[in-house]
Amino acid sequence: MADQDILNLTSAAYILASVLFITGLLWLRSPETARSGNRLSALGMLIAVTVTLLDREIITYEWIIAGIVLGTIVGVLAARLVQLTAMPQLVAVFNGFGGAASATVAASDLLQANDAGDEVNTVAAVTIAASVIIGSLTLTGSLIAFGKLQGLVPSQPLLLPGRHVLNAALVLAALTAAGVLIADPSLEVALIAMAALALLIGVLIVIPIGGADMPVVIALLNSYSGLAAAATGFVLENNMLIIAGSLVGASGLILTRIMTRAMNRSLGNVMFGSFGVADSTGVHSANVSATDRPVRAVNAPEAAIVLGYANSVVFVPGYGLAVAQAQHQVRELADMLKNRGATVRYAIHPVAGRMPGHMNVLLAEADVPYDELKDLDEINADFKRTDVAVVVGANDVTNPAARTDRFSPIYGMPILNVDQARSAIVLKRSLASGFAGVENELFHNENTMMLFGDAKASIEELISEMKEL
Ligand code: NDP
Repeated sequence: MADQDILNLTSAAYILASVLFITGLLWLRSPETARSGNRLSALGMLIAVTVTLLDREIITYEWIIAGIVLGTIVGVLAARLVQLTAMPQLVAVFNGFGGAASATVAASDLLQANDAGDEVNTVAAVTIAASVIIGSLTLTGSLIAFGKLQGLVPSQPLLLPGRHVLNAALVLAALTAAGVLIADPSLEVALIAMAALALLIGVLIVIPIGGADMPVVIALLNSYSGLAAAATGFVLENNMLIIAGSLVGASGLILTRIMTRAMNRSLGNVMFGSFGVADSTGVHSANVSATDRPVRAVNAPEAAIVLGYANSVVFVPGYGLAVAQAQHQVRELADMLKNRGATVRYAIHPVAGRMPGHMNVLLAEADVPYDELKDLDEINADFKRTDVAVVVGANDVTNPAARTDRFSPIYGMPILNVDQARSAIVLKRSLASGFAGVENELFHNENTMMLFGDAKASIEELISEMKEL
């Protein structure tokens, strides 16, 4: 086949793969089509990788095959063994390695060109610098995010004195090194200095961020890993990598925006605001946990009676649902309530759980009908007309302090109006605080009943009590 024909075929395959990526992403928007969307994108990736392996001047396939085998083993094990609750950490690691891969490929392109005595033009040098800087800071930033979520690094913000000045100086130094490299790509010491500075910047920009802001940082780092890949696409003159990297970059940024909006925080505030730290008034609202203020504790038979009389019930799932893995029991209880004539819906907060879409995934696993899942905007006005809101392991996303306590770290975050329901039954093990470390006023409300215990065990008890009614 003539070179031109191969080029045309490759371009056609890349366009097909890009269409599959974009359609796959579109399909991810709805739970009904999400699985097919995932498969479609995977098919796109298979086409892209196969065509690249066949087309490019591969020097040796041995290392590539070894990489594929090793990567497949790690990927399959990670997908099978990592709990859904630890998914943000896994995503953080993936982002970090994605950034590292882009940076090392770009750097090796430069080193190879220098070894061969080839000229590296300015455009190539700029893209190599961009890829190495963004990829390197994505690596260390993601590893710190992983460490914080995994409890290996203290999750509290670590605030170094003068950190903004230090960070600005480091960024300036990294850009200077990049400038030197672009002016003379054979100065490999500039490449090393640039990478080292970017690695340090990655650590320093994530260390001061803590608490509930970590998922936003992970979404942002996801976007960075896409940008690094796109920059490497320019280095390798590979359109597929440019398109795929841009898609990751853009979708990561959109996700970051959705999450900051759901928490009512600006990106600047997340990156520089140090969530959960005393504000200038000296009031420290975070880390208040159990108090001795009274709550109304009920047992399963009492809660079952309340549910038995309800005409409308809204389940409010949260992180505790994921911990307890109670989704199948929730579905069973919902079915029983529906059989008794009650309307049942599920209120889904955009940041309930520990990753975007966490609750949707869990409930889909239990075959909860999609039309019963209602987003915050759809359901919030209805709580006033709801007989019982059953809060299953949710905490922060129901905390009225977000509306009323301007000193609370979650002040301004849109919450589910559980406190406005005629009554609320809260299933959790204790009065402990949630992710943001703040006390929840809801637990002390007159119309709130606390059903203490593991959510799965409590719902199983409720189911057997309901059978007796
Ligand atoms: P929270 O983290 O606020 O609260 C979860 C509650 O679940 C805890 O208070 C805990 O109380 C309870 N719980 C834990 N295990 C069990 C169990 N086995 N049975 C019953 N209850 C249990 O969860 P929310 O979903 O309300 O809020 C999510 C928080 O996480 C927000 O602050 C959000 O900003 C943040 N976040 C969101 C991410 C996302 O993308 N969705 C990612 C990362 C963080 P107890 O110990 O008393 O049982």
